[in-house]
Amino acid sequence: MPDSDLYDVTIIGGGPAGLFSAFYSGLREMKTKIIEYHSFLGGKVHVYPEKIVWDIGGLPPIPGQQLVENLTQQGLTFDPEVVLNEEVISIDKNEEGIFIIEAASGNSHYSKTIIVAVGGGILNPKRLPLHNARDFEDTNLHYAVKYLKDFKNKRVLISGGGNAATDWAKELSGIAKEVYIACRSDFSCHESQITYLKNNSVVCFTQTEITKLEANRAGDRIEKVELRNRESGVVQHLQIDEVIVNHGYERDTSLLENSPLDIQITDNYFITGSSSSESSVPGLFAAGDILHHDGKLHLIAGAFQDAANAVNQAKLYLEPEATKTAMVSSHNEKLYKRNEKIVEDLLKE
Ligand SMILES: Cc1cc2nc3c(=O)[nH]c(=O)nc-3n(C[C@H](O)[C@H](O)[C@H](O)COP(=O)(O)OP(=O)(O)OC[C@H]3O[C@@H](n4cnc5c(N)ncnc54)[C@H](O)[C@@H]3O)c2cc1C
Repeated sequence: MPDSDLYDVTIIGGGPAGLFSAFYSGLREMKTKIIEYHSFLGGKVHVYPEKIVWDIGGLPPIPGQQLVENLTQQGLTFDPEVVLNEEVISIDKNEEGIFIIEAASGNSHYSKTIIVAVGGGILNPKRLPLHNARDFEDTNLHYAVKYLKDFKNKRVLISGGGNAATDWAKELSGIAKEVYIACRSDFSCHESQITYLKNNSVVCFTQTEITKLEANRAGDRIEKVELRNRESGVVQHLQIDEVIVNHGYERDTSLLENSPLDIQITDNYFITGSSSSESSVPGLFAAGDILHHDGKLHLIAGAFQDAANAVNQAKLYLEPEATKTAMVSSHNEKLYKRNEKIVEDLLKE
């Protein structure tokens, strides 16, 4: 393997955790590669391009798509190598301690350290468990809300009770003609969310599931939905234009299961790590939704913290005498040069 093919850090997954890891890794002057399954960077945030995200420190409310653009711009600050359309299928280590990353394409990648930032693996929504559900996936059965305008003045039923489902109900309450939300058990979102929904004419059903999808004459669109209360057994029918299902995502367990390394995982396929993002394999770190430890925050804010920790640990693994944590970002020479223009503009004001 030529030296040029060997990286200090290879980040598997180009979502928020992977992109912030790439930024931080550049800050710490490590030769970095990102490998991403999709043809685009940004990870799960692509599921909610028009959702307004409020909980990123220091950022005003921002639509998901814009957040992707910002994350990508920041992630590429130090020009990491980016490999898109590449599914990593296994990770191993050779006798010299170099990681060998195998991809489904047949390519091999070589790295001194790895940051696994694959979230829940390749994204695959949990589908509505009804025999004819797939018949409507090209028309009015959705597993994400990409564009709010598609729901304008429509009668919309949302199935799901977590934060994502109730978020959509909230966003659509001012756009759709009618919004219904049905949850199999009780809602598990912020209390204020339910208060908001009720105050904004969203009809909320708890202990309720979709038991039948009834098609129109042509058989290509859902026209009516049968709902059943799981406690009382009462059945009702709703005339509906669009159905959104948000039951979470299947965890794609293939990568860690197929890797010969002894990476300790919990039953749910999280890498069991420490708050410093270390895993059971020396030199292999984890960041973002894939990581689990006490106090772990499965949100973008948590992904950023993990990413900085993972990079700092990777740096120390490669150079034990290096500073334990990165210095503040303005101490980086490359960034300092870019600062000059900003400072120039500030002085003009
Ligand atoms: C509908 C919805 C709304 C949300 N709203 C918010 C919110 O308001 N605020 C908030 O903080 N969080 C929110 N979240 C959660 C947030 O999106 C996640 O916490 C965050 O995306 C986790 O980032 P990550 O980089 O760990 O994983 P991901 O974003 O899942 O990125 C993982 C990346 O790894 C890639 N990958 C996976 N397997 C492989 C492989 N084998 N080879 C190569 N690439 C691979 C994937 O394609 C993906 O691009 C929301 C989530 C959803 C679903």
